[in-house]
Amino acid sequence: MKVRLGFAATLLYILLLAGNMVAQAPKTEQMMDKKRQHIVEIATVSVLAAIGNVEPMMKGHMNIALNVGVTPDELRNLLAIVEKLVGRSEADKTAVLETPSATAIFPKGNVIEGANFNGTAYLQRLMTDSKTFDVVVSDVIFEPSARNSWHSHPGGQILIATAGKGYYQEKGKPIQILKPGDVIAIAPDVKHWHGAAPDSGFTHMAINTKVSLGATEWYNPVTDEEYNDYKE
Ligand code: MN
Repeated sequence: MKVRLGFAATLLYILLLAGNMVAQAPKTEQMMDKKRQHIVEIATVSVLAAIGNVEPMMKGHMNIALNVGVTPDELRNLLAIVEKLVGRSEADKTAVLETPSATAIFPKGNVIEGANFNGTAYLQRLMTDSKTFDVVVSDVIFEPSARNSWHSHPGGQILIATAGKGYYQEKGKPIQILKPGDVIAIAPDVKHWHGAAPDSGFTHMAINTKVSLGATEWYNPVTDEEYNDYKE
């Protein structure tokens, strides 16, 4: 929510800046073109700064901006303003650094194939004797933005978050963030989905209980609108 508000504020700022520049822009056609390029580069640098994690692109556009007449001081001020508006929290930075690959304790497993996952996720079975224990234990690694479709488990499921930053949502409830150490007990037949946040990979252990009651029931994929509906 904070990031989205920051984005809106940044875009508003860019529009005001651009409007102001157009109003003051020189009249000859050649000068207009240069001024327009100047505005486009300022807007591009601002948006890239707001998005984050786009350093090579940022450097390229900062150089172009300097070439079309934006002064180094103007660039510095611009970046300071964007940083203030976006207000990226320390928590977000930590989540990005704390990628699952850096903290993995189980083998990565195999890519999960099929229509029930959106994005790349890996599954490693940790315990295969479900006949004796009526339980399936797995480790699941989600790359950023990867998630499964809406589904339910006839015997229920317990998720134990171990790395990165994840999303979990039950039908009719808001998305909740999962951090390492969080435990979610999902009652039988409760419709839900789980996956990684957009800005971080995520790993959880999944303990499917009373599996003899039947296989997971799959429903519709989680739409981008649903996925992007996280409110801080
Ligand atoms: Mn589940």
